[in-house]
Amino acid sequence: MSDLKLYNTLSRQKESFEPITADHVGLYVCGPTVYSDVHLGNCRTFISFDIIYRYLRYLGYKVRYVRNITDAGHLEGDRDEGDDKFSKKARLERLEPMEIVQRYTVGFHKVMQLFNNEPPTIEPTATGHITEQIRMAQQIIDNGYGYVVNGTVYFDVEKYNKEKPYGILTNRKLEDLLEGTRELGGQDEKKGRLDFALWIKAGPEHLMQWPSPWGMGFPGWHIECSAMSEKYLGKQFDIHGGGMDLAATHHTNEIAQSQACYHTSPARYWLHTNMLTVNGVRMSKSAGNGFLPEELFSGSHPLLEKAYSPMNVRFFMLQTHYRSTLDFSNEALQAAEKGLKRLWDAYEKLMSWETGVGSQESGDKELDEKVRGLVAEFDEHMNDDFNTARVLASMFELVPIINSIKDKTIAITALSPDTVTLMQSKFKSYLEDVFGLKAVNEADNGKLQGVMQLLIDIRKEAKGKKDFATSDKIRNQLAELGITLKDEKGGEISWGIE
Ligand code: AMP
Ligand code: ZN
Repeated sequence: MSDLKLYNTLSRQKESFEPITADHVGLYVCGPTVYSDVHLGNCRTFISFDIIYRYLRYLGYKVRYVRNITDAGHLEGDRDEGDDKFSKKARLERLEPMEIVQRYTVGFHKVMQLFNNEPPTIEPTATGHITEQIRMAQQIIDNGYGYVVNGTVYFDVEKYNKEKPYGILTNRKLEDLLEGTRELGGQDEKKGRLDFALWIKAGPEHLMQWPSPWGMGFPGWHIECSAMSEKYLGKQFDIHGGGMDLAATHHTNEIAQSQACYHTSPARYWLHTNMLTVNGVRMSKSAGNGFLPEELFSGSHPLLEKAYSPMNVRFFMLQTHYRSTLDFSNEALQAAEKGLKRLWDAYEKLMSWETGVGSQESGDKELDEKVRGLVAEFDEHMNDDFNTARVLASMFELVPIINSIKDKTIAITALSPDTVTLMQSKFKSYLEDVFGLKAVNEADNGKLQGVMQLLIDIRKEAKGKKDFATSDKIRNQLAELGITLKDEKGGEISWGIE
C-alpha cells in the first residue's frame, strides 16, 4: 500500500492513494481560459499542481499529466450566462479570436516557465476537440439526460439527480443548490434552473462557431474537460485537480456529464487548491485585485515596495499548505525572500562538502539521529497530503546545524558519512526536483534594478532638455532587449520584461 495520503474533496477526508494501474498516475488539471493574462492567484493553483506532479514522479510514478487550454466556450458566468469571453475580447481589441488565444497562451507559457513549472505531458485545446465534445453531448442526449431547445443542448439536472446525487462533490442537496440560483425568467429555454449547456447555439456575434447536429454553435465550458480527460486518460482516471472555486459548478457538472455518458465518476480523487487573497479578498480579475506576475518581477505594481524574483514568489507559496488560504502582502514576500536566502545559503554550504566527509564512528550519536529524523520527515510531510510548509519547517531546523558545521562550532565528524550523504541527496531532490526551486542571484537582481533606475533618470533628463534622440535611443534599445518602459500617471516611469 502506498504511504501517500491525499485529501479527497469527494469524501471530505484524507485517503491512501491507490492508482488504478500500478506505477502509473493519470492527472487532469483544469487549465487557464486564455482571454486575458493569468494573475498570481491562477499561478498559485498551477504551481501547487506542478509540485504535486513533481512529487508523484519523485515517488516513482509514471505520470500522464493533462492540463487543458480553454480557448472556446467559456461564457462570462459559470452557469452559462453572459457573453462569450473570447468574442467579447476580440471585438474589443479588433482582433481575431484566435489572435487573442495565441497571445494569452504564449504569455501563460512564458509565466509558467519563469516559475519553473514543468509543462504538462499533454496540453489539449477545446477548439481541437470539437468532435469529441459533440459526440459526448449526443451520447448524453441518447442516454436521456440531455435535451435540445432551439439549437442549444442542455443537461437535465433534476432528472439526473433522481438517480445520482448531483451535488455530491460539495455535499449539497439539490434543494439547497436551487435556493442559491435565480428563478427562470420568461425568456429562459431551460427546463430547470440548474440545467447547464452542453452545446450553445451561436448567433452572428459569436466569432467562433462550428457545425453540429443541432446547427451552428460552440461547446459549453464543462463538456470540454469531460471530453478531453476521457480522450487522454480514459473514462475513469486517478486525480482531477483545480482551484476550489471550480468545485461547486464546473467539477460538479463534469461528474454529472461523465456519469450520464459513461455511467462512471471521472476521477477517483478530487484535489482542490485554496485561494490566494489580497487583504482577505480572493484575487480575481473581476474584483480588480489581480497582480500580474510581471508586475512582481519588475516591482512596478503600485502596492509593491520592490521587485521579487519568480523563485521568491514560488517559495512564498510553498510556505503555506495548498489547502489553506494564502494572503499576499509586501511583508510576507519580504519574509519569504529572507527565508529563501537563508535556506539556499545553507544548501550551498551543504553541497560544497565533499562526499564521504563525516566519521564512520559518528562523534555525536544524538545529533546524528536528530539529523536523520528531520530528513526522514521530508517524505512523511509530503506523504501527508503534500505538506510543503512542514517540509520547509523541518529543513529550517537543519539550517542551524549546517551553519554550525560550516562555522566549525560543530565538527563534521559529529555526523556519519551516510548521514551527510543522505542530507545532501534529500536536500537536492526536494529543493530542486520536488519544489522546483533554482538559485536566485539576488545581487544581480538588485543591480538590474539600479541600472534600470539610472537609465530611466538619464532618459528623464534628456527629455527635459528636449534631447529626444537620447531618450528615444534608450527606449528603443531597451525594447530590443525585451524591456519595455511604461509612462505611469504622475510622470512616473515603470519597466517590465517582455
Ligand atoms: P481560469 O482561467 O479563470 O479558469 O482559472 C484558472 C485556475 O486558477 C482555476 O483552477 C481557478 O480555480 C484558479 N484560480 C482562480 N483564482 C484563484 C485564486 N485567487 N487563487 C488560487 N487559484 C485561483
Ligand atoms: Zn475544467
